Amino acid sequence: MSKFKYKRVLLKISGEVLMGTQGYGIDLATVGRVADEILSIKNSGAEVALVIGGGNIFRGLAGVAKGMDRVSADHMGIMATVMNALAMQGVLQSKGIEARMMSAIAMPTVCETYSARQGIYHLQHGRVVICAAGTGLPFFTTDTGAALRAAELECDALFKGTSVDGVYSADPKTDISAKRFEQITFNEVLQKDLHIMDPAAIALARDNNIPVVVFSIRDAGNVATVYAGQGLFTTVVKE
Ligand code: UDP
Repeated sequence: MSKFKYKRVLLKISGEVLMGTQGYGIDLATVGRVADEILSIKNSGAEVALVIGGGNIFRGLAGVAKGMDRVSADHMGIMATVMNALAMQGVLQSKGIEARMMSAIAMPTVCETYSARQGIYHLQHGRVVICAAGTGLPFFTTDTGAALRAAELECDALFKGTSVDGVYSADPKTDISAKRFEQITFNEVLQKDLHIMDPAAIALARDNNIPVVVFSIRDAGNVATVYAGQGLFTTVVKE
């Protein structure tokens, strides 16, 4: 058994992380930095599946606010996650890291269609599995997609890389008395209405007993630090 707590992890990266310091789109230097971090935990023995959001390019609700219908707007958001996944796959492969992008919406000339069985096979063979297109369904988010894929791919934990170093009792940007939790339960997150992931994602992770590790992915090197159980993070657990 490895000295690390989790062997197979689902890493959720919000699209905004991939913008780097740009206001929009994909910053390939940031994608490269995240790819290096994935390599470092793979070298520690981790099996890594990825779900990447699309908020750096398009969010469905932003389209709805401008008059679009929700289904078309969400499909555009889903396509944004596909663009991010393609960028990540390309960068991982350019660094010699084997990666397989699998889309929840079939696009066979672009990538494999998602299947849990095939995804597990790739993970067992040391490949990074990039789950593109979220759940493939409008009205959902990539957080829910991440919880779903973590369950399907039999992951030991869901690592949610965000802009903050854990779950706080209030928004630390606006409330200086906000306290960071070392550990918190899924039910507390739901009862206290702490917005770390949408409630559907929290419920899926809870019901499938998949711990969610919330940490800042903006701090370089933090993926490996948190994977080793060090540094700052919050673990959301069932009980
Ligand atoms: N989306 C969707 N279904 C999914 C996943 C994503 O409809 O299963 C759409 C939705 O419009 C969302 C957009 O894709 O706003 C981008 O995903 P998300 O907001 O989760 O990205 P993130 O905030 O993680 O960058």
